[in-house]
Amino acid sequence: MTELSDLPLRDELRGRSPYGAPELHVPVRLNVNENPYGIPEAVVADIVAALGDAVRGAFRYPERDFPELRGALAEYLGHGLSPEQIWAANGSNEIMQQLLQAFGGPGRRALGFPPTYSMYPIYAAGTLTEYVTGERGPDWVLTPELAVAAVERERPTLVLLCKPNNPTGTPLGLDVVEAVVEASEAMNAIVVVDEAYAEFDETPSAITLLPGRPRLVVSRTMSKAFAFAGVRLGYLAADPAVIDAIRLVRLPYHLSVLTQAAAVAALRHAPEMLAQVEAIKAQRDRIVAALPALGYAPAPSASNFVLFGGVDDPRATFRALLDQGVLIRDVGIPHHLRVTAGTPAETDAFLAALARLER
Ligand code: PMP
Repeated sequence: MTELSDLPLRDELRGRSPYGAPELHVPVRLNVNENPYGIPEAVVADIVAALGDAVRGAFRYPERDFPELRGALAEYLGHGLSPEQIWAANGSNEIMQQLLQAFGGPGRRALGFPPTYSMYPIYAAGTLTEYVTGERGPDWVLTPELAVAAVERERPTLVLLCKPNNPTGTPLGLDVVEAVVEASEAMNAIVVVDEAYAEFDETPSAITLLPGRPRLVVSRTMSKAFAFAGVRLGYLAADPAVIDAIRLVRLPYHLSVLTQAAAVAALRHAPEMLAQVEAIKAQRDRIVAALPALGYAPAPSASNFVLFGGVDDPRATFRALLDQGVLIRDVGIPHHLRVTAGTPAETDAFLAALARLER
């Protein structure tokens, strides 16, 4: 046995923490923004049949560029996208890691707007890219002016925009994306719009901005609304040249035959997989409506989670809810906690547990 500090770890990784949402098997799990409804049985049967066929062919390597899956994803996204504009990987985390591998690196900067998705600095550290930050306005709203000022100041090669933003739930206007793409032209930067929660968001997708903007990349995932987090399937839509760049860094055969088969089968049932999205949004709105009466200040959310302020001691409240079997998320924003919108029964349990706390 040895200690981490004794290993020849790269200097920029010393003292860092791994991504670490607690994995606790408690009755009410509202901490990583999954769709708790699961997969309808009829769809499960179809996916299992597809997996059986895939296993029979699994003595061969999978297709490296998975045309069938890219076609199914293009069809799902619509907007006239072609399979050549789509790429997929093991979760949108891997998508973004590949983007940083291709477009980041030593001497280059990736720009994010905290508080935002906690993995952005971790992708940067893993690819020797410097992570730099821009400012948000009141209530974490990002305006075109603030975003452009940060782009011009930091001169990044990659801009990471989270739409809607995690962990705040804040929507992002397409005017911000347009302004950032325009400002980034001067440094030939890639602009990534992370739309992990797009299916919960009523505002239009940045996919609508792709025509004529070859450095714009829209990242999506099947982990959230699509109820497929365990399969690990993220994807992007972009100019085919961006995908040529990613091919230079992806590991050969990174998407297993099982992953490809499961995703293609699930996409055939997209409406059933997404059937609970409206119900989840109703729970989100119910949480936002109920929290003020309990003395908390929820932030408006275009996603399937709610960030709420007015928490005296987030760690203590997190712990007290966990003691009642309700797991939510301490995202490190002072006086705030984040809760995922799940089933009505989960909302009941969360609100009842919160109401029981002494304030
Ligand atoms: N982007 C955002 C904003 C997220 O919240 C998450 C998951 N928490 C991801 C990307 C990555 O998800 P996955 O790798 O499961 O697609």
